[in-house]
Parts: sequence; C-alpha cells; structure tokens
Amino acid sequence: MSGRIVDRRPALGTGYHSRTSTRNRGAAQRAAPTTPSDRSAAMKHDVAIIGGGIGGLTLALTLHRAGIPCRVYEASPEIKPIGVGINLLPPAMKQLAELGLESELARVGILTADACFFNRFGQLIYREPLGRAAGYDWPQISIHRGDLQMVLLDAVRQRIGDKRIHLGWQCTGVGQDAGSATAHFVRLGSGEALPDQRAAVAIACDGIHSTIRRQLYPDEGPPLYSGVNMWRGVTRWRPFLSKASMTRVGWLATGKMVIYPIRNNIDAEGRQLVNWVVEIETPQHTLRDWNRAGRMEDFMPALKDWRFDWLDVPEFIRSADMILEFPMVDQEPLPRWSFGRITLLGDAAHPMVPRGSNGAGQAIIDARTLADCLAATEDAAAALKAYEGQRLEATANIVRMNRKNPPDAILREVYLRTGDKPFANIDDVISKDELRALSDGYKRATGGDKAALQGQTRAAS
Ligand SMILES: Cc1cc2nc3c(=O)[nH]c(=O)nc-3n(C[C@H](O)[C@H](O)[C@H](O)COP(=O)(O)OP(=O)(O)OC[C@H]3O[C@@H](n4cnc5c(N)ncnc54)[C@H](O)[C@@H]3O)c2cc1C
Repeated sequence: MSGRIVDRRPALGTGYHSRTSTRNRGAAQRAAPTTPSDRSAAMKHDVAIIGGGIGGLTLALTLHRAGIPCRVYEASPEIKPIGVGINLLPPAMKQLAELGLESELARVGILTADACFFNRFGQLIYREPLGRAAGYDWPQISIHRGDLQMVLLDAVRQRIGDKRIHLGWQCTGVGQDAGSATAHFVRLGSGEALPDQRAAVAIACDGIHSTIRRQLYPDEGPPLYSGVNMWRGVTRWRPFLSKASMTRVGWLATGKMVIYPIRNNIDAEGRQLVNWVVEIETPQHTLRDWNRAGRMEDFMPALKDWRFDWLDVPEFIRSADMILEFPMVDQEPLPRWSFGRITLLGDAAHPMVPRGSNGAGQAIIDARTLADCLAATEDAAAALKAYEGQRLEATANIVRMNRKNPPDAILREVYLRTGDKPFANIDDVISKDELRALSDGYKRATGGDKAALQGQTRAAS
C-alpha cells in the first residue's frame, strides 16, 4: 500500500491555490460569482473532478452551490444515458432536493411507493411503504441510471457551463506539491497526451475501476467477487402491484430477482419501463464491464416456473429490450481516502455490492459532505481529511452491512426457516415485528432511519 503522491513537474493549465475563506463562507453559499472580476477571483479556488458519473456531477453541483468553481474531466467522449435502474433513497433525495432537482427527477423517474418481498412461489412475505408514503420528508425515486445522469448533466451545463466539462479526458494519474494538485490525461481512444491540469484539489470520482485508487493502493488487486452473478435488463411492461413497487423475490441460492418500474407511460398503452435484476450464486464470473451482454440461457432455468398472478416472469424476461451481465463485487474498506490535496469519492472510495440501493446515494452524500468541508476551511488538505472523517467509517459500515444483512435478509430468513418450501401462513414462519426489525436495522445502520434523518434537518433549520 502506498499513498504518498508528490509531483514536481511544472503544472500547465489553470493554476491557483487556496479556497474559500471561512470569513467568506456566507457569500460562498450564495449563488456563484457572475461578474468578470468575481469570476477571476473564484478561478483561484478551482477543484478538478475526475469522472463525470453520478458522484462527479453531483459534486460539481454541490461545489457550485457553495460558490466553489470546478472542472469535470470525464474519460468518455460523450456522456450517454447508459445503465439500467437505480433507486434513490430518502437520504440521497434530501441532497438532490436541496440542489433543486426533486421535481425533475420525479418527472423522469417513479416515486417508489412500497417494498414487497415474495418467496419464489410468489407468496407475499412482507410489504412496507417507502419514501413519502412511509412519512419521510423526501421521496424514494426509482430511475434509469442514464436519466439520473442526464438530469445532473443538464443542471451542470446550465449552472456551470459546458466549458467546464471536458469529455474524452482520461486521467492517467495525479500528483501534488505544496500549493496544488495536478492531474495527467490522455485522450481516450487515441492515447494522445493532453495538457496537465492543476487545481487546489483533485477528487477521484472515477468509479469502480478507479485509476487514482489504483495509484494510491497499487497492491489492492481487482474488485472482490461476492459469489453472486447478476443479469440485468429492462422490459416494457404493463404496471403491476402498486404500479410503483420495489419487488424482491426468491433467494440467491436458487435465484433471486429485484424488479421495479423506472419510467412511466412510455407508450400509448400506458406501459412502464421496468428494471429487473436476476441474482444467482455462481462460482465463476468475469470482470465487471457495464456494457457486457448477458445470455438468457445462463439464468432462465432458475426462473422457468415463476408465473405469479402479478407477473409472468419467463414471458417478462423474454420481452426484455436488452440483457447485461455484471458480477456482484465490492472492495475491502480502505484505511484512508485523503492524501494531501487528493481524495476519493463514490465507487472509487467505497464500492459496495448493490443490495441495499445505496451505491449512487452514498456517492451523492459524499459530494455534499465534501463540498461542505471545502467551504468550511481554506486549508485544502484539512478539508479533505475532515470529509474522510465524516464519510469513511459510515460508508465502510454500509459495505459490510450490504454483504451480511441487506434488506433481502428478509428473504434469506424465510428461505432458511421454510427449507425453501411454500408456507401455509407467513405469521407461523416469522412475525411482523421480526420482519420490521430486519428492515429497520438496515435503515438505521446505513443512515436511512426516518427519525434520525428528519431530526438532522430540523436541527439544522
Ligand atoms: C456506464 C455505467 C453504467 C452503470 N450502470 C449501472 C446500473 O445499471 N445500475 C447500477 O446500480 N449502477 C450502475 N453504474 C454504477 C453507478 O453509477 C455507481 O455505482 C454509483 O452511481 C456511484 O457513482 P460514481 O460516480 O462513484 O461512479 P460512476 O457513476 O460509475 O462514474 C464514474 C465515472 O468516471 C469515469 N471514469 C472512469 N475512469 C476514468 C478516468 N481514468 N478518467 C476520467 N474519467 C473516468 C467513468 O466513465 C464514469 O463516467 C454504472 C456505471 C457506469 C459508469
């Protein structure tokens, strides 16, 4: 393990050093500077964001709101709406609402109404309301990852400007000296060297295969396979259950599914775009590539009898627009993210298995915390350390919780107690109190507890 980064090369590009002073904090939290002289002063406090995914774009918006200028460097030559479904839980929606994005996200996504847990025989185990329906001050939103990224990108373009988004810039490494951080780039595809970029701080938002994490921890190795492979897709389908249900069915040993709608009214028949994931314990896997096509024959045998009164699963899957295959991976939590003027954020900092709808949400919360820390002191390294102090252990807990006791622990419990057989009456298998305790335990451990979350807001207002 290393982590010491010292760059003695002369830096090119925009140069500057410190950041918004504590004295100017109130001003920094108002709108971004608009006059030419304000702008040139602000240029002295620029942040280089490496990666224009969910975390990087949210960071750009939170920094902008705090009056801190930034530039985004994204490896892809074009940001396209790639991916399948993501759920945004109330803690993440709280941050996005404060950025003024709630109504746009609600327009393009779906306000998730409830969570439903079924066994593989289609018997209902547990149902609970979610988001506003559960009394939170913020909704839970089920959304296509691409739609979320486009809402964030449009806001960055409108508020910060296209000139601050550099596409096709693949970061190859970062360095620093006493006064600044420097990021090195090549053009993705051609490999042509691009000018070094200097900033007060460089933030690695470059995802699960982060180049900067690899530079900081060269001996870490590839992401760790959980033993569960996933096939993900989207299908255009008629609304089912509450028309906004997040549904989990079965168990990993014999095949589990997560199914939820992510776009409403996509055609004249009022169908929805429905996201689905099949998760099966599988010994072998290949490295995660977000675009690898999956094969129906690899998982369909596990689901062939899943014909429920609310969904004919085999027919639903055969009607899919596309199928992708990803291994379920994470990494051991790191001892440290911040090294002087460089830190990690989102999946680069804490990749987690996607079993609790927390991957995108935790990147969003990181972004808000980091912007607040940068706004609170002019000492860049101290700000990055403070951010790490608030977020490293909190996210490490979620990484561990997602491995052992995510919300689908409810399904594991019923699978074990029934010996994977149909039940006559669920109350004879597990009590409502036990079910609620399993669900609430995950929320408490991962920052999603309603009372705590709403208490924080009331205390701050
Ligand atoms: C193409 C794609 C599809 C995805 N699909 C899903 C999905 O369907 N469901 C789901 O739950 N999660 C998906 N994810 C992951 C999900 O977005 C993240 O887990 C989560 O949102 C955390 O966000 P992040 O910003 O840390 O990482 P990401 O959203 O993964 O963003 C990382 C960004 O960094 C860029 N990048 C990588 N390396 C470099 C480099 N060297 N220099 C510059 N830029 C770089 C990437 O192109 C990407 O835009 C996907 C990610 C990607 C990149």
